[in-house]
Amino acid sequence: MLHGILHYAHYLLESTIEKNETVIDATCGNGQDTLFLSNVVGKNGHVLAFDIQEQAIQTTRQLMQENQKQNVSIIHDSHEHLEKYLPTKEMLVGGAVFNLGYLPRSDKTIITNANSTIMAINKILHFLKPNGLIVIVVYYGHEGGHEEKEAVLKHVMQLSQRSYHVLQYRFINQRNNPPFIIAIEKKGNGFTKRKL
Ligand code: SAM
Repeated sequence: MLHGILHYAHYLLESTIEKNETVIDATCGNGQDTLFLSNVVGKNGHVLAFDIQEQAIQTTRQLMQENQKQNVSIIHDSHEHLEKYLPTKEMLVGGAVFNLGYLPRSDKTIITNANSTIMAINKILHFLKPNGLIVIVVYYGHEGGHEEKEAVLKHVMQLSQRSYHVLQYRFINQRNNPPFIIAIEKKGNGFTKRKL
């Protein structure tokens, strides 16, 4: 059976992230991925959840409170500054997720943009553990979305194949700019571990 986009994003993250790791939700929005990651890393793990929008910060904070999550830092800043919030410069990040685009039922002019998205991807690749994944769910139907999609695709397609596996997962018979996934795996030594 083929996974739907959001299900596949979670499947990929869950299959590579370990308990107790530090992971990143680069665009927390309504906090659904933050909650998911919080469950995957467990109470001794840590989720850094970024958003530039006050509404997203409030909604995510409330969702974490409702679910009694103590292992999440909700950060009101752009993901391109993420290294400021990592406890050490030597630490490894277990995985990361981006949802590009705007926050549903919110201000459609506050969108992710190519420059900061690419900067954040590069920074996370630096800290990512071997065999770790960055999963990017690309929504691009909105104004400005196509430009970001093209720039991000161009960037990840030129990542060295010696160091990274880069996957695109998309349904090719759907209409109206359906979202798709880009997954970047940092190559490690030996085989890639699969938990599932
Ligand atoms: N994952 C979210 C959820 O489960 O609801 C949806 C995220 S929504 C598609 C994209 C989010 O990215 C918006 O909340 C927006 O405010 C945020 N955003 C835009 N630019 C950002 C940036 N530079 N750094 C962090 N967040 C950003």
